Amino acid sequence: MCWVRLYHICSTLSGTQVQYTIVRSQRRRSIGIKIQHGEVRVSAPVYVGEREIADFVTSKQSWITRHLQAQQGSLAQLPIRRWQHGEQVLWLGTPLTLQVRDGQRNTITLIEKTLHIRLHRRTSDRPAQVRKLVIDWYHQQGMHVLNQLIPQLAEATKLNPTSWRIAHYTAKWGACDRRGQLSFSWRLFAAPPWVLNYVVLHELCHLQHFNHSAAFWQLVEHHAPNYTEAENWLKQHGHTLLNERVFSYVNTESNTGQSES
Ligand SMILES: [Zn+2]
Repeated sequence: MCWVRLYHICSTLSGTQVQYTIVRSQRRRSIGIKIQHGEVRVSAPVYVGEREIADFVTSKQSWITRHLQAQQGSLAQLPIRRWQHGEQVLWLGTPLTLQVRDGQRNTITLIEKTLHIRLHRRTSDRPAQVRKLVIDWYHQQGMHVLNQLIPQLAEATKLNPTSWRIAHYTAKWGACDRRGQLSFSWRLFAAPPWVLNYVVLHELCHLQHFNHSAAFWQLVEHHAPNYTEAENWLKQHGHTLLNERVFSYVNTESNTGQSES
């Protein structure tokens, strides 16, 4: 596997300059474009020339502009995260307020809807420490959630993973490997529970179909009839939640997806 990153300026999109990142992979057989975190990312096979990539990007002009503007628009609506006192983080769709005070050592405790963070007086770079404590807390609490949820869903679906863990993914929500181990991004635990449920079910279904074939999606639909709603939610909010500069989303729905039960 060989990954080469190149930064490139394309000046042909609607008269404005759009910067995109090229990621080359020996496994890829075709060029693909993804808009991620408000940026354009082009995946290409190692043997495709830059000219060809630029032409491909140009041919997708209106699609790129539309998606880029939508993502940048929702990122612009959200304040930049500074990991400081008074900010809110979303835990299973519910806002928790960060309360940061001095203490004997660095700790984090949830009491009702407040995350009480204590930092030692001599802590340097306090936002970095707050961020670390919050992420560690997501990992720990996320495992508690999975330890309850996965056995229930495994029982209902008869799809049994060998183990599960929380990962630091920045570009995906979950993964399933050939040994039957499931991994989930800590960022997923900011999403509402019905979306989390769907992502866990999605990965469980990969235990039976290690691909995204029609048979796979049939199995997903069988276990999660509302899966398109959850996919749409992730499409709409995923780029803001995965983007650590904001790590949030605009809660436009109140009860969407609750109809799954
Ligand atoms: Zn999948």
